[in-house]
Amino acid sequence: MDNRRTFLKKSGLLLTALSLPIPNILFAGGKKKLGVALVGLGGYSTHQLAPALQQTEYCELRGIVTGSPEKIPRWQEKYNIPDANVYNYENMHEIAKNDNINVIYIVLPNSMHAKYSIIAANAGKHVWCEKPMAMNAKECREMIAACEKNKVKLAIGYRLQHEKNNRIMMKWAETNPYGSIQNLTAKAGFFSSNPGWRTEADMGGGAMYDMGVYPLNTSRYSTGREPIAVSAKSSTSRPELFSEVDETMEFTLEFPDGITAHCRTSFGENMNNLEISCRDGSYYLQPFQSYSGVKGGTSDGKILPPMGKNQQAVQMDDDALAILNDRPMIAPGEDGLKDIIVLEKIYESAAAGGKRLEIQPL
Ligand code: NDP
Repeated sequence: MDNRRTFLKKSGLLLTALSLPIPNILFAGGKKKLGVALVGLGGYSTHQLAPALQQTEYCELRGIVTGSPEKIPRWQEKYNIPDANVYNYENMHEIAKNDNINVIYIVLPNSMHAKYSIIAANAGKHVWCEKPMAMNAKECREMIAACEKNKVKLAIGYRLQHEKNNRIMMKWAETNPYGSIQNLTAKAGFFSSNPGWRTEADMGGGAMYDMGVYPLNTSRYSTGREPIAVSAKSSTSRPELFSEVDETMEFTLEFPDGITAHCRTSFGENMNNLEISCRDGSYYLQPFQSYSGVKGGTSDGKILPPMGKNQQAVQMDDDALAILNDRPMIAPGEDGLKDIIVLEKIYESAAAGGKRLEIQPL
């Protein structure tokens, strides 16, 4: 009798729980886990995001969107993805009817970010979009508006904003443990022998769009300020490969309080460091933007050891938790937009031979 009463009580509770409005959130292993669909199964999805999604606590890989049918069986088998969760670029909007998928992660060439982010938002799904957010500020604003209209959240894949030592840079921008910041150097590049679509202007190629957003975004969060002026110069040592876009971009950002950031990015040079000089000392990260092993130190001998966790897993869990708890994203669309506004000025300055251009605040 007692057992029956307990059972009825429990089932009553269960029914009450089931009738609560918890849209599009499934429970997995007793924990809320969001279902993620990756759009574009290229290098980053294959080697970083899908493996990271095997380590996440609050989200998991449940779907794929691809234009390459030959990739489908391998992904389905490896990640146990049912037929119902496999889409292509033409039918992706039908994810709207799929309650298993809560988040659509856009991992396509840069010129495709805006179009497919907007399709994802219109399907009523939360949107994660890789960096750079889009090709220009107009596209960024359209993405933000589509997410607002559909009441879904938008996060940009700025993984470094989720990485422990880069987060210390953000904190020190506020607390100034070595006195006021005076200047900063940020460099991110690698030698690419086969850059593919990254040499094509129509696809959103160019070092500045690709690696250049790291020094740019980092300069903003490591100073805690928005740039007020920029000057830039682009160059190439392989004109046969980089006839349409920049292979290397050097740019200087002027911030309020006389702070200057010297930045460089390239597909032709290996570089990966951040140095910040302050009135009473300095600190650095080297490497500052690798997938793992980001570490650094300070002028008084403090060591900043690596985080020791999968960066992308931390990023996606942070973003999943922000959705589950209805909190702001760490790197929202507005942050991506701020970078693209500056990036457009960087290209404008480079086209004008390095002319200093002022940037209007948002
Ligand atoms: P890849 O070229 O390796 O993959 C892109 C994928 O997009 C392709 O495999 C393909 O997937 C799909 N695609 C659809 N249409 C096209 C097209 N016309 N040309 C080429 N590919 C197409 O690129 P990455 O994975 O390296 O980069 C994708 C995005 O991720 C970029 O925005 C990049 O900036 C970002 N990225 C971010 C990183 C980070 O650290 N945050 C690191 C690396 C990349 P399919 O065959 O499934 O259709």
